[in-house]
Amino acid sequence: MRVLLLGGSTEASRVALALARAGIAGVFSYAGITPSPIAQPLPIRVGGFGGVDGLADYLRREQITHVIDATHPFAAQMSRNAIDACSKAKTALIAYERAPWMAQAGDNWRHVGDIEAAVVALPVDPARVFLAIGKRFLSPFAVKPQHFYLLRFVNASEAALPLRGAEVVLGRGPFTLEGDLALLKSRGITHVVSKNSGGDAAKAKLDAARTLGLPVIMIDRPHLPERRTAQSVDEILRWLGHAACLGV
Ligand code: NAP
Repeated sequence: MRVLLLGGSTEASRVALALARAGIAGVFSYAGITPSPIAQPLPIRVGGFGGVDGLADYLRREQITHVIDATHPFAAQMSRNAIDACSKAKTALIAYERAPWMAQAGDNWRHVGDIEAAVVALPVDPARVFLAIGKRFLSPFAVKPQHFYLLRFVNASEAALPLRGAEVVLGRGPFTLEGDLALLKSRGITHVVSKNSGGDAAKAKLDAARTLGLPVIMIDRPHLPERRTAQSVDEILRWLGHAACLGV
């Protein structure tokens, strides 16, 4: 058995640890967009595979028997490529799919389908917006320069930001309710824009928005073709054991 673990999420690091502890041979793959990726207990490769065909070639060349897609829920291109390449190379595939966040009592969420729709959902009158969506997805908001934008990044941005007058704070999750409450209050935030990533690490901003009665523009997850999924590391290990017994 030889596993390719597609990383880029908190869960991917947990899966890598479990594979290493179980003595399962595997390679951890990063897209290469973060300058300081987290170290892993598996050999690491970095960079794209070159689309579906490139990934299918890699799977055959490296004799990968199982692919675990533990990319971020919004990394839809990679997930689609994994489905198609595994089908081509006849490699078993499972995706670690964390549950999306669900609105609860006291939440004021407006669901939108993508980033462009989130821009449209922002008011016309000047607002103070916490834009917690990552630095690569900011440019569509430039059409609404009347707003103040508060951005949170893992690393400082070397490239110029597409949003003039935006303020950047640095931080790597998990974030706390106390911390995010203080952040939103101190900047007088009136709207929160969030991707529905799910998980615990970035949830505090939604709890803070609820506490402060702020509207949240929630970008729903991209739609993906049907695939086998797991919600825990244990489930993935069971799948590997089961699949190994069957020689899949
Ligand atoms: P994407 O749009 O789905 O992928 C774009 C291309 O990047 C893919 O076609 C693939 O290139 C390459 N790629 C993506 N993940 C890869 C991986 N783990 N290993 C090797 N190549 C990979 O992905 P994205 O939204 O740009 O995200 C890039 C990475 O950042 C992902 O690993 C994701 O988990 C992580 N991330 C994304 C978000 C988000 O909001 N999108 C948030 C946090 C972390 P080829 O076609 O050349 O193979």
